Amino acid sequence: MSRRSERACMLCGIVLQFREFKGKGCPNCESVLNYKDSEESLVQECTSPAFEGLVAVGDPSGSWVAKWLRIENFVPGLYAVKVNGRLPPDVVSRLEDNGFHYRPRDGSVTD
Ligand SMILES: [Zn+2]
Repeated sequence: MSRRSERACMLCGIVLQFREFKGKGCPNCESVLNYKDSEESLVQECTSPAFEGLVAVGDPSGSWVAKWLRIENFVPGLYAVKVNGRLPPDVVSRLEDNGFHYRPRDGSVTD
């Protein structure tokens, strides 16, 4: 893999450049993660440079791949099937306070 500045969001799996996460935030998770208004370290902790199986999703609501990845409510884009790493515990508890259930995308949860 040569495109090292690309990272996958650990929450939704979307793949973007680091500077896109920092500059524009995650198109799916910005309301809960606030990459844009946070320190760079948050982007570093909540996105991962280690991911596998890129899938381009054009119309998430009508795609079985999107359903399978559980991204049918997300924006069209490039998604990783598997993202190595986990959100930090304080971020996970913040998500849960906001009513979100974090499902790690590192392959440890198979249902
Ligand atoms: Zn995200």
